[in-house]
Order: sequence, then C-alpha cells, then structure tokens
Amino acid sequence: MTRKFRVFATCDIGESIELLRQRGYEVEVYAKPEAPPKSLIIEKVESGIDGLITTLRDSIDAEVFEAGKGKLKVVSQIAVGFDNINRADANRYKIPFTHTADVLTEATAEFAFFMLGALARKMWTAEHLTRENKWGYWHPYLPFLGDEVTGKTVAIIGTGRIGLAMIKKCAGFDMNILCYDPAYQNHDYVRAIQETMDLRNARGICKEKTWIKYVSLDEALAQADFVSVHVPLLREGESSTPTYHLFNELTLRRMKPAAFLVNTSRGPVVEEAALAKALRENWIAGAALDVYEKEPLPKDSPLRDPAIEDRCRLYPHVASAGRITRLSTDPDKGMAGRTVQGLIDVLEGNYGGNVTKMPYVVNKEAFAN
Ligand code: NAD
Repeated sequence: MTRKFRVFATCDIGESIELLRQRGYEVEVYAKPEAPPKSLIIEKVESGIDGLITTLRDSIDAEVFEAGKGKLKVVSQIAVGFDNINRADANRYKIPFTHTADVLTEATAEFAFFMLGALARKMWTAEHLTRENKWGYWHPYLPFLGDEVTGKTVAIIGTGRIGLAMIKKCAGFDMNILCYDPAYQNHDYVRAIQETMDLRNARGICKEKTWIKYVSLDEALAQADFVSVHVPLLREGESSTPTYHLFNELTLRRMKPAAFLVNTSRGPVVEEAALAKALRENWIAGAALDVYEKEPLPKDSPLRDPAIEDRCRLYPHVASAGRITRLSTDPDKGMAGRTVQGLIDVLEGNYGGNVTKMPYVVNKEAFAN
C-alpha cells in the first residue's frame, strides 16, 4: 500500500489528479482559474505537503523552498519551460523539480506554423472583412494580398525539441530552412530533412529544390522571410547564450522589411516595445505572438496599438493547448499525465530512488555525486 502523500496543485489538471487520489494521495487543488497568490503557495508548503504541482504562472524560489524545508520533496511543473522556477534555489535546497518536455512538442510546433500561416495570408484581416460586410467584390489584388509560405525561407531560432518539430512542418510546406542554435546543433536531423527534401524533388512531389542549413544568427535574420523562435527563456547569468530580449531593436533591424516574426517561446525573449516600434515603422512586415513579457497581456500594451493590428497577431499562450496534449493522463501523451508521473517517480522512489535516473526531473545536477 502506497504511503499517503499530501499534494497541493496550484491549478486543476483534470483526471490525472484522480490517479493520485486512487493511489491514496491526499490532493488539494486550487479551484480558481487564475494563479493563487504566492502567499497561499507558501502557506501550503509550510503546512507540510510532500509535493507541489505548479504552472508557469507560479514563481517558485528560495522563499517557497525555505517554507518547505525538510518537508517538500518535489515540485512538478505542467510545462516544458521552467523559467518560473529558480533552478539555483531548487538545487541549494536539494528539491527536484520535473517538467513535461516532449509531449507538447508537436502541438506547440503546429501552432507556431499555423500562426506563421495566419500572419502571412492575413487570415484575421480577411475574416474581419467578411464578417464586417466589407467584402464588396472579387479583385486580382484588392483589398490586399498575402504572402505565400511555399518556397519561402524560414529561420528556426533554437533547434531543440520544438524547433526540430517546426523544421519538419516547414519542410512539408516546401520551405527553405535556416537553423540557428549556439548550444545544440542536430546535424543528423538536418541531413535527414535534406534527404527527404531531395527525394520529394526527385520524385516530382515538390517542384522546386529546397534546402536546409545551420547558419549564424546574423545570416538567419538577414535571409529569412519568416523567423520562428523556439528558445527557452534564459536570463543573464543563467547561460552563456542568454535569450532575454534576444529580439530587440538591433536584431529586429537585421530582419528583412518583408519578414515576419513568430514567437511561441517565452515573452521576455522579445522586447515588446522594440517590436511595436518595428511594426509601427515597418522595419518588419508583421509578427505573431503567443507569449508576452507580462501575461495576460496588459490593456495598455503597445502591441494593442490599432495602427499595427493588421500585422500583429496576438494569441493567449495556447500553443500547447491541444486536448490530448494538455490533459491526457497518459504520461507519453499528455502534460497532465507526465506531471503526475514525475511527481510519483520522486515521492514513491521509482528508479531505485535515484533522482538522476528519473526521466522528467530537470535539475539532476543537484543529485549527482
Ligand atoms: P529545448 O530545450 O528542447 O530547445 C531549446 C533550444 O534552444 C535548445 O536547443 C538550446 O540550445 C537553444 N538555445 C538556447 N539558447 C539559445 C540562443 N541564445 N539562441 C538560439 N537557441 C538557443 O526546449 P523545447 O522543448 O524545444 O521548448 C522551447 C521553449 O518553448 C520552452 O523552453 C518554453 O519556454 C517554450 N514553450 C512554449 C509553449 C507555448 O505554449 N507557447 C509550449 C511549449 C514550450
């Protein structure tokens, strides 16, 4: 019989919570849709819970770990990004934390691709035209034209899990692909994509020859028609290649005036004031964002400027929000299932209790001998 563990979840993650209860866990779920105040998280942790289920909205740092000293055993995050969890603090307090990499890769990449398409073909503007009864005639180029995706060049910034999945989807749309990643380059994958591109061309499936290659950031920005961002949020001091404000006045100015920016990574990777300026002053043709420096997007954000609304698509952090991806109880399919399995692994001492062997634990370095 499993020892009863106490868990607090800062949001409802669906049926997976029941899986824990069926194992004899006592689980309290914060029922409101918005994030709980930090003081409540601290209160729950102080009360002696064994496990804490978090979302990217919760700031988990030394204050929280201190409150759980000697009691809290694991933090399990329902997201792949974990920039809200202070890794150094978790390591100092020797608290393992888990995340949900992989299961959201395809959903996020496909949403990024749809954002790219919606932006390029002006789908939002087109629907407004229809709904607002402004569609007066069919005309070869009025009231506007969009840009095709087929045959264009996309730059993938960050070729980790989601970046590689995005590459696969772009290749399917006969795009040329520039890859940039200073820390991880998957040349085997790129070679395999080139082989499929060559085969599609040789067998007449794709008329034009297409290509893929790793390049520098400058080359990627200067040559791409679309730039899609797939990096983690890394602040100064957290990495030798930080991504905080990677897109700023300088880098936005390096893009082509006809190019589009797509960001499904984390908001602070793009300096929003600079982006709004770039859109207002037409340094670039448009941008589609799923994530923001401050979420939810504030009412007075410069990105809401009506002067740029035709070329600035705004989505409410939903790139991974597919039904199965978010809520499946299967840890190989759903973020919820993987969150719960990560928690169980630590609390029930799976993998012989060896945290470094647990697949969903992020900060393994704190437990290596
Ligand atoms: P990953 O760790 O597999 O890939 C990230 C890649 O970025 C790595 O290869 C890394 O080397 C690279 N990188 C690091 N610094 C860089 C830099 N300065 N320039 C270019 N590349 C750099 O992560 P992933 O699973 O692909 O997820 C990427 C990020 O996407 C997550 O960290 C998360 O923040 C975000 N995300 C958002 C949503 C959403 O709903 N919008 C969903 C899932 C993930």
